[in-house]
Amino acid sequence: TARIIDGSAVAKKVREDVAGGVDRLVAAGGTPPGLATILIGDDPASEVYVRSKRRLSVAAGMQDLHRHLPGDVDQETAAALVDELAADPAVSGILLQLPTPGHLDSDALLARIPAEKDVDGLTTLNAGRLAQGRAALRPCTPAGVMRLLEEYEVSLSGAEAVVVGRSVLVGKPMAQLLLAAHATVTMAHSRTRDLAEVCRRADVLVVAAGIPGLVGADAVKPGATVIDVGIHRGEDGLHGDVEFGPVSEVAGAITPVPGGVGPMTIAMLLANTLTAARVQQGIAD
Ligand code: NAD
Repeated sequence: TARIIDGSAVAKKVREDVAGGVDRLVAAGGTPPGLATILIGDDPASEVYVRSKRRLSVAAGMQDLHRHLPGDVDQETAAALVDELAADPAVSGILLQLPTPGHLDSDALLARIPAEKDVDGLTTLNAGRLAQGRAALRPCTPAGVMRLLEEYEVSLSGAEAVVVGRSVLVGKPMAQLLLAAHATVTMAHSRTRDLAEVCRRADVLVVAAGIPGLVGADAVKPGATVIDVGIHRGEDGLHGDVEFGPVSEVAGAITPVPGGVGPMTIAMLLANTLTAARVQQGIAD
């Protein structure tokens, strides 16, 4: 049966490394990185995510510069807040928690975040830099997946990688990062004709479709590494996009849900915030 990829343990290590980096930045005469999370409205799931991001950033020695706006705020007021944070030297990173309420244009808000403070890696400039293989702040979830693959020494050069899902947040940057690591990358999505057949090519299979149990054992090559990005809240706890039980009989390694990719996302957000602060303060590690 498959080796379990322990995202909680790797995330803890990343957070400890970040905390050490923050200490060194301050010892070198810098100021602690400041993370400005922006929550608009009071969606319960978003509140939970933002609370974890704030708590773990403080635990890593960062400044919590959280801002909350009411759910009925207008576009101009929200834009003015982003501009204020963009101009504030205490703010190293700006994270706009998505989704924003339906009446707001979240793309227009994201576009106001300066690339060097875009710790979620979602601006057009950072996405373009990633596509060009240049240094950039990378989207946290795909960056977390790469970190897990490195940590577990999954070889990527020349490997067949299949990414299921093509979102701007996960699928597309995931494919770019795997490509940069010299994998042969296939992207599957909702129009893919025979998903199981495409997935069976994969030495490394990353599933980010948002459909519970989409990938079963019939879609997995024996010995493959399977990374499950999906998160679904059921009565009996969290589940992923992969049928964990049957797939773990076939795969060589697999991430559980919870305890796989999820904890890595916040850890990489902290790593990005430290990187942003170092660049802005001109202090290398
Ligand atoms: P999304 O809805 O924006 O994108 C889903 C993608 O899956 C689309 O590109 C679509 O083409 C593809 N897809 C949909 N149905 C499919 C099918 N039947 N076969 C193949 N492909 C199909 O979602 P997202 O933001 O990319 O998130 C995906 C999942 O990952 C969600 O469950 C989300 O909750 C989870 N997520 C987890 C983390 C984390 O930290 N672990 C972070 C972000 C998202």
